[in-house]
Amino acid sequence: MSLEIGISDDARKTATPAPDGRHRVVQALESLFVTHRRHVKWLQAAMLLVFLIVVALPAVLPEPAPEATAWTDPRLALKYLLWGLWFPLVFLTVIVVGRLWCGVFCPMGAASEFANRFGLQRSIPAWIRWEGTPAISFIVTTLLGQTLGVRDHPEAAAGLFGLTMLLAILTGLVYGRGKRVWCRHLCPIGRVLGLYSRLGSVQFAPRRRLPGNREYTERGVCPTMIDTARKTESRHCIACFRCVNPAAAGGVKLELHHPGKEVERIRDHHANKAETWFLFLDTGVALGGFLWLVLPIYQDLRQALGEWAIDHGWDWLTRIGPSWLMVVHPERGETFLWLDFVAIIGFMLGCMLVLTTILGAITALTAKLARQAGAEGSFSQCFTELGYQYSPVALMSLFIGLGAELLTPLRYGPFGDFGVHAIRGGLFAAGIVWSVLLGWRILERQGVPAAKRSLPLLPGLVGSVLVGIGWWPAIFGL
Ligand code: SF4
Ligand code: SF4
Repeated sequence: MSLEIGISDDARKTATPAPDGRHRVVQALESLFVTHRRHVKWLQAAMLLVFLIVVALPAVLPEPAPEATAWTDPRLALKYLLWGLWFPLVFLTVIVVGRLWCGVFCPMGAASEFANRFGLQRSIPAWIRWEGTPAISFIVTTLLGQTLGVRDHPEAAAGLFGLTMLLAILTGLVYGRGKRVWCRHLCPIGRVLGLYSRLGSVQFAPRRRLPGNREYTERGVCPTMIDTARKTESRHCIACFRCVNPAAAGGVKLELHHPGKEVERIRDHHANKAETWFLFLDTGVALGGFLWLVLPIYQDLRQALGEWAIDHGWDWLTRIGPSWLMVVHPERGETFLWLDFVAIIGFMLGCMLVLTTILGAITALTAKLARQAGAEGSFSQCFTELGYQYSPVALMSLFIGLGAELLTPLRYGPFGDFGVHAIRGGLFAAGIVWSVLLGWRILERQGVPAAKRSLPLLPGLVGSVLVGIGWWPAIFGL
């Protein structure tokens, strides 16, 4: 006997379909976060304590013995927690949970927003709203991180993180009204997390999207100034759930989809030219920050610069610099001269410019071939969209380079260095394959027929492999 006896055709048409598995997960997550939204502040307070322990405490702990490891020495354990776990995992987890770190856990963003309640609440000046400001913030912080040796010297890490926290609070005290101006416009890693969150499987989307593509507003509930009714992109969304109300017919709803979907359809998600260029720049400067440590050519360039300085009477280059700008730790046998400072900055900026030029030229060729194969839209639009195909390979580069310590303990396991290299190589290969698949999908959305996509896809593959060659020493050693 049919279970549908008694249900009319009309009723069947209007009945709400039973939620599928994904729908049920979304409902459960929305309900969990909305119910406990008011408790998030306690989580953030606890994270502030963790932040102080992990960042500030190592600076006052005694020097570890030469044979000490992260298992036997608290300072080395905290170092592993900061650089081995926290840093790489915050980047990698955006693929799964978006910028949940920013919206729920980060003590810096929370402190900035808290300070904003008591501050001057001035309007946000144009220089802060400029697209380039967060990119400059990332590049300057990355350069300083290298010259100060933040990974090896806990005082430097405490100083740099402390300065960043202070600037976040000061920004909150001066600018915006109930907002996180720091997180939207100034945080050095916020924009990078934002870019990679486009690869994530989490999206907050308006139930009824209003027309227009201006997604910025200082009114409304969103702490990062998103006009939630016109929202199409993830990058500025810190997954704070404040705009979500499951009981309301309108507002914003949580969506789960496969990773990378937003980039595959970047044409519909506010592709941004500045973001494409900063993707190239970030990848280049991060690569430079790793290569100067391992490539002999850096030492040759430094030597040549030193000899040139002596020959031309530039004595200041051979003097020790200030400890707030560079490594000055004679007690650990490491002290930088101005020569080191200039050489490191020059080398990293050089890497950044070289990689940006290469990726820019390759993407220009890709856009040209795509348009010849039938891609709709201007050259500039195609260029911007196709640049996003490098985001997986760039994310894996950052993960492998910045998170080198994460896999270090595996060296002492049964597979030794081979196991570590295999995991890094596997991650990187996955990044390249994902980049190529994204390229395929972006071309599809641009209207290039499947039979004509291979040729414009080729330069993108070359670009991804070139990034891989650049990171080769990080993955496999020299
Ligand atoms: S944008 Fe920066 S300061 Fe703001 S929450 Fe994210 S990581 Fe923290
Ligand atoms: S769009 Fe919603 S979830 Fe995203 S940051 Fe704004 S208020 Fe939070």
